[in-house]
Amino acid sequence: MSRTLRVRQSQTVVPFGVGAVFDIQGESFVATGIGDWPTRGRQPVPSPRLASRLGVTGFYAAPATANDRFDTPDAPGAPYIRFPSWLFCGACRRMTRRRIAEEKRGQPPGCPSCSPARTLTPMRFVQICAAGHLGDVDWWFWAHSRRGAAERRQCGEREKLRFLVSERASGLEALSVACTAKGCGASRGLLDILGTHGMRCSGRNPWQRSAEAVECVRPVQVVQRTAGNLYYPVVHSALDIPETDGPAPVDDALAAKVREHDLWVSLCKVAGAGRAETLREMIQEDTGADDALLDDLLTEETGTAPSGPAAPETPAARLDLSREEWAAFTAPVPLVTRDFALRESTLGLSGETAEPWAGLRRAFGQVVLVDRLREVRALSGFTRVSPDATLVPADTARRLKWLPAVEVFGEGIFLTLGRRELGAWEADQRVRRHVSSMRADLDRSFQKDRLVTLTGPDLAPRFVLLHTLAHLLIRQMSFESGYTTASLRERIYARPEQDQYGILVYTAAGDAEGTLGGLVRQGEPPRLAETLLRMTEAAAWCSADPLCAEHTGQGFGNLNRAACHACALLPETSCETGNALLDRALVVGGGHVPGYLESVVAAARAAAADALEEM
Ligand SMILES: [Zn+2]
Ligand SMILES: [Zn+2]
Ligand SMILES: [Zn+2]
Ligand SMILES: [Zn+2]
Ligand SMILES: [Zn+2]
Repeated sequence: MSRTLRVRQSQTVVPFGVGAVFDIQGESFVATGIGDWPTRGRQPVPSPRLASRLGVTGFYAAPATANDRFDTPDAPGAPYIRFPSWLFCGACRRMTRRRIAEEKRGQPPGCPSCSPARTLTPMRFVQICAAGHLGDVDWWFWAHSRRGAAERRQCGEREKLRFLVSERASGLEALSVACTAKGCGASRGLLDILGTHGMRCSGRNPWQRSAEAVECVRPVQVVQRTAGNLYYPVVHSALDIPETDGPAPVDDALAAKVREHDLWVSLCKVAGAGRAETLREMIQEDTGADDALLDDLLTEETGTAPSGPAAPETPAARLDLSREEWAAFTAPVPLVTRDFALRESTLGLSGETAEPWAGLRRAFGQVVLVDRLREVRALSGFTRVSPDATLVPADTARRLKWLPAVEVFGEGIFLTLGRRELGAWEADQRVRRHVSSMRADLDRSFQKDRLVTLTGPDLAPRFVLLHTLAHLLIRQMSFESGYTTASLRERIYARPEQDQYGILVYTAAGDAEGTLGGLVRQGEPPRLAETLLRMTEAAAWCSADPLCAEHTGQGFGNLNRAACHACALLPETSCETGNALLDRALVVGGGHVPGYLESVVAAARAAAADALEEM
């Protein structure tokens, strides 16, 4: 019987991208570099914006196939090879080192010793180093490692090994590798196999030829082949947005309405004073103008810039993808293309004066429903041992100028905060002090370079606030709507220097049909407002409190405060930062810091208490 192995095209970037090790039907493989990809049938994935950012000529998706035959050269699909090459027989315990030349089409490897019908099992342990290399454990060396060098030299066989299991013990303690060469009998248990043992690094990955190996002196670590630190893919993603030139144009009709308002002249006279607030709100109520527009018009009229001058354009700023995406989402008249369709929506709370709804209305700004979006995800390479270790490029030979990518289609909800509310909260000294301690931890972190591309040059309170809100919203929505948290993703737009203050929560699938509109329905009024309120109430409490709430540094590199698996973290694929820079306290308050939605929590509690009394 011939077996079918299949890696879906949408999985060839994540989770089974170049360098990943994975099991299929009891066999274990590693995805090879794109230098081995078939040139026939690969599909171009256009994304000019992402290509220019990454400095490549373009992207290709692996040719789609129903049966990726790793053992057939130039077959369709993303290529992969057997790894680890050391296998063992569950019946006779003989270990076999399988060469690529020995692969038989469509057949799992059988035992050469007892019966070809016995399928061999891959060894559970492999070795990695921080230069991104991966290799088989030198099992002969391991079996003989308790012997002296002279004794070792006496053993004339290299591959006569058995993988033994003792019935008197369990776990690693029960396992050992023994040499069955005549007169040798060396063996060693696996109890202490994990870790570093002074073994040499092969200086390459399994698909690279020996000639491509480099001299590597990094310490080698033995890990399980399913270990989390075996593989960290480096993925970049961009949304397809309509081409726009410069900043979003001002809505002229709306601007005229504001300027013609009876109170406009009065507002210009008192701009900045306490009375201005009331005037603003009245003008906004009558015209529907948002804070950004009012600020722009006030600046034009009075010459005072409420939010400081824009940062000068640097090369890094031009490469930032968030700028254009933010502009596309907040454009007063949304540009719609085949792969990008937006609809302006609301929380459905206009005119609402009763708390906590009125508070919610002030705290949030725009709601935009994204009926259709296209995202390109490209893999530039991977690291091993830790996320900040040496990057291994997707083309290990470093000759190709393109990257592997996939496109996905989906839908989303774009949500901004109330610009003025945010400004006032962010100006609070307690908030600034609180976040400056997080900034200090970020400066010390080895993840800084990666995270700064998301946060902007200075970590602002709004980044941590918006990021935490995105996590809480995804968790709440998955709780209420049947989406799994892993099927939802976030994008944070929180660069103060670009006047960004919003999030996108979206879902995307591999086929061109995209998703079915279920997420967008969750964003329609009044549902979204109700979800946001329940999210806010839930955020005030974590099952790990008071420990979680009082934390001064948890998570990777101490980059989180009040945020743990029980309350705020998401699956890795959902999060842009790898679950760093989260803090519920900035949302609901706590310790010495006021939360952005603290008054909403208090009002919701008061309303609940009133309701109880009336019963
Ligand atoms: Zn056997
Ligand atoms: Zn031996
Ligand atoms: Zn190495
Ligand atoms: Zn928690
Ligand atoms: Zn996140």
